[in-house]
Amino acid sequence: MPQSDEIITDVAIIGGGLAGLALADHLHGAGVPFELFEARPRLGGRIAALGTAAGRVDLGPSWAWPGQPRIARLIERLGLSPFAQHAAGEILFEDASGVVHRGMGHASMEGSLRLDGGMISLIEGLAARLPPERLHLSRAVRAVGPDGLRLACGTRCTAAHVALALPPRLAAGLLQERPLPAAARQALAAIPTWMAGHAKVVAVYDRPFWRAAGLSGDAMSRRGPLAEIHDASGPEGRPAALFGFLGVPAAQRRGQGARIEALALEQLARLFGPEARAPLQVALQDWACDPLTATEADQRPPPGHPAYGLPAALAGLDGGRLHLAGTETAPEMGGLMEGALASAERVAGVILGGGHPAA
Ligand SMILES: Cc1cc2nc3c(=O)[nH]c(=O)nc-3n(C[C@H](O)[C@H](O)[C@H](O)COP(=O)(O)OP(=O)(O)OC[C@H]3O[C@@H](n4cnc5c(N)ncnc54)[C@H](O)[C@@H]3O)c2cc1C
Repeated sequence: MPQSDEIITDVAIIGGGLAGLALADHLHGAGVPFELFEARPRLGGRIAALGTAAGRVDLGPSWAWPGQPRIARLIERLGLSPFAQHAAGEILFEDASGVVHRGMGHASMEGSLRLDGGMISLIEGLAARLPPERLHLSRAVRAVGPDGLRLACGTRCTAAHVALALPPRLAAGLLQERPLPAAARQALAAIPTWMAGHAKVVAVYDRPFWRAAGLSGDAMSRRGPLAEIHDASGPEGRPAALFGFLGVPAAQRRGQGARIEALALEQLARLFGPEARAPLQVALQDWACDPLTATEADQRPPPGHPAYGLPAALAGLDGGRLHLAGTETAPEMGGLMEGALASAERVAGVILGGGHPAA
């Protein structure tokens, strides 16, 4: 894209995560021109995967749940293969002194659904149905001013509608030059980005050896560094993997990646046996360090699942032409992937319901 480029479209979508792509899909289906700008060199946002020789392992979301109709429809439409989270076998509990107790607790994710190929398959499936020339990767939006979008590369984009398909706290940063009611700015800053303060360690093995030892792969720990561990394997245990959420606060994780990985492998060996110490691959995905997901305010996760939804102060902005579309603004299941789809549906309804937008 040369510097002098100016793009004119009906709907500019900022963010190529699940919400942005689902919105693009609605618009494309209705024949409404759009352009989608994604800052990262890849699509998916918080949905990401580690590639291994035996398949992919989720680095962001792993689970969908029964009772999520939009995800279920999307999986079916894209022809993807869901499978049940592995839950058979005993659960482990590690106390604060590192003593491991067998058979304590319950399989907290039993009944949840995983996807063969990882959750990134949702992103690939949606993207494959959209015109590639409308999906602009590595195109960070710097600001959304009164006269349109300004991209980091110098390009400008003018659109009848602008949809911010990204966490509200990131949206706030893009709207600084734009006249907005104070209540709208406060509302944007107050909405925590779901899971943004968290980090996952993924360890990949040649086989799910813990299953043969009668273990489910689930463990809770008061010792750490991993606080909650699950089987992250694909269907039939291939690729074989364990993952854990780190219990170490984000501020203490910074710059400590190699040390944390080593401590996590020691912990997996305490829990699941010496084989766990030597994975084929290990990866630490720290979402709190990623400025395209987390802000300073997100470094400490909220104590529980926030009550998400579109605050009244964020509805009908700029005469109904400026829209918030990330999962945190969903009318239901906000924070989750189902919420990302619900928020896209809501914004598509507003844009399409208002008739074909005239520039
Ligand atoms: C570790 C972890 C575990 C999770 N587990 C689950 C789970 O098991 N089940 C579940 O349902 N959900 C889970 N979630 C939540 C799930 O990932 C989100 O609900 C969903 O991915 C949000 O999609 P989104 O499109 O709203 O936002 P995002 O995925 O955050 O997409 C926003 C996009 O905007 C882009 N962007 C940011 N700034 C700019 C800019 N200036 N210009 C252009 N583009 C920009 C970003 O790069 C990103 O691609 C988890 C999340 C994490 C991090």
